[in-house]
Amino acid sequence: MKKIAIIGSTGSIGVQTLSVIRRYPEKFKVVSLAAGKNAALFAEQVKEFKPKVATVAETFDGICELGKISEIHVGETAFTNAIIPDADLVVVSLVGFTGIIAVLDAIEKGKDIALANKESLVVGGDIVMRKAREKGVKITPIDSEHSAIWQALGFDFDAPFKRIILTASGGAFRDKTQEELTKVTAADALKHPNWTMGAKITVDCATLVNKAFEVIEAKWLYNTTFDKIDVIIHRESIIHSLVEYNDGSVIAQMGYPTMELPIQLAIGYPERFLPVTESLNFSKIGKLTFSELDEKKFPAFREVVNAGKKGGAYPAVANGANDAAVKLFLENKIGFNDIYISIAEALSAYCGGAANCFEDLKSANDFAARIVKDKFGV
Ligand code: NDP
Ligand code: MG
Repeated sequence: MKKIAIIGSTGSIGVQTLSVIRRYPEKFKVVSLAAGKNAALFAEQVKEFKPKVATVAETFDGICELGKISEIHVGETAFTNAIIPDADLVVVSLVGFTGIIAVLDAIEKGKDIALANKESLVVGGDIVMRKAREKGVKITPIDSEHSAIWQALGFDFDAPFKRIILTASGGAFRDKTQEELTKVTAADALKHPNWTMGAKITVDCATLVNKAFEVIEAKWLYNTTFDKIDVIIHRESIIHSLVEYNDGSVIAQMGYPTMELPIQLAIGYPERFLPVTESLNFSKIGKLTFSELDEKKFPAFREVVNAGKKGGAYPAVANGANDAAVKLFLENKIGFNDIYISIAEALSAYCGGAANCFEDLKSANDFAARIVKDKFGV
């Protein structure tokens, strides 16, 4: 019986993790849950899974009632209280910069991690991977592309390879012209062609920032260099990523798009459980297509990858600017192209600085958020 803590239980990944766990009561026990502001869903989850500890970002009417079931903590970073000695595995499914707080706390406590929060590796991959190695903490990927690579490498993070090829659906605006991109809205960006996810990552998919984040995530998870990571547009989201070996052989992982499969594998590894979709029907799928990413149309992709290559606190600046700009875009306060402009301006305003500890990353992240807020007067 694996004891699981879920940090970000009310989000898209959190809910799907619970849906996997619900199917395997003999394999998993939820020992703690951490949610943000969705009080109604949090209360339902506490009543159903009866975790030892449950935390929530804000208090709400009826919270005392839940205290009869679980030990309750409230606060913006109360989720660290949910990373309890009892847990064997911590699922980090928070969104944004905050994720790194949970990741570092889990590592400090020596807990293995199933990682959905890619921002933690984007902003602090060096620190996170170094500390995880020191503490002997294993990080299994939930992100579907990284799960695909993990599988193609035979679950061996140190296996030698020639190249990783990340696939990208192209996001909601893959068929829009550059001119049309000046007029798109948040509601348009939220219509992802192949996946249903949280709002922030869906916008990140539309700007291709998500794919740049995934390049950085792959660099850290697979201990490799940027020149060994390629990206290809694959509209159908059937091939979730590929690994090319030194002899030219290419291994792909395929499946209908569903996050439940990579979640199931990340929390159930080394076991493989039952399928979560019907078997792939190749004659029904028809054509699988591949094309180059249009960097002119989606300039944020290169900007963020370059920040990753520069290293230090630059990726934290890119992330901070993106987080702030996406928030404003979702509130319909800025346009789609303003997201790229925000990232580019924050990066060029940044003069470099240390990235040796969490505080350095936070100050770079906050610096960028401030630049964006000042730019748009909010
Ligand atoms: P959501 O926005 O759907 O969920 C975010 C979760 O974090 C919610 O449970 C939210 O709580 C919680 N949260 C936010 N702030 C706090 C806080 N201060 N304390 C405790 N909980 C908090 O995001 P997704 O599930 O879509 O994404 C999560 C992560 O996984 C992201 O990093 C994303 O990039 C990555 N990912 C997501 C995929 C997907 O399919 N969704 C695929 C691959 C990666 P509440 O809702 O209660 O406020
Ligand atoms: Mg992904």
